[in-house]
Amino acid sequence: MADSRELSSSEYIKERESLLGSAKKEVFELELRDWYWLKNEKDINDSYYSHLSSWKGKVKSTRAHVVSFPLNEYVTYQADYYKKLEDAGEEIYYIDRSKFDRLRQPSGIEICDFLYVDGTVLLTRYLPNQNLMKSEIENGLLVKDKDTVAKYAALKDTIIKSATPMDRFLESAGMVKPKISAHTCPKCGNEDAFVLFYGVIRGDEAPLIIYKCTKCGHVDREW
Ligand SMILES: [Zn+2]
Repeated sequence: MADSRELSSSEYIKERESLLGSAKKEVFELELRDWYWLKNEKDINDSYYSHLSSWKGKVKSTRAHVVSFPLNEYVTYQADYYKKLEDAGEEIYYIDRSKFDRLRQPSGIEICDFLYVDGTVLLTRYLPNQNLMKSEIENGLLVKDKDTVAKYAALKDTIIKSATPMDRFLESAGMVKPKISAHTCPKCGNEDAFVLFYGVIRGDEAPLIIYKCTKCGHVDREW
């Protein structure tokens, strides 16, 4: 890979920090892991959050997390952190691992986390043994070569198009309770209902809303 170099773990973290600090337009982070990679992961997350807060309204920040089912404790931990990031202005998506693999294959891109910041890519490669945490970090690579960066930029766009926004994903995965809305049940007259679905089916029509009564469970829809 042209114009790239190997970094040690402390260099990787320093490089990541300086990349984030120089962000002017766009930051995209792909999270491929579903396990903790570092004891101080929380510190890294906090430092990212402080960058994000300082970018508010200036830098577009997007994240995609690749997940496998069943979801594990790590994904639950990350979801709490992501809610905080979403409040700070980040757009967050989830994508199923097998779908991600299908999208990745034609690009020839290796399996790795990447951070895309305004035309520079920072990679974290994983070794087959997922317990080798230190080696994962030491395999971080900074990519400036234009053709390679373009491949990652294209993959990033493809992933965003095919991924599911966080709220919808967490709801479908049963990680959050559906929203409760004021809607009178035609069967029992109860005035609270879960919103099971809200969305536009065809562009020119009003959104479809599907309610489920919180008392008797009756399901009805409204266009
Ligand atoms: Zn009812």
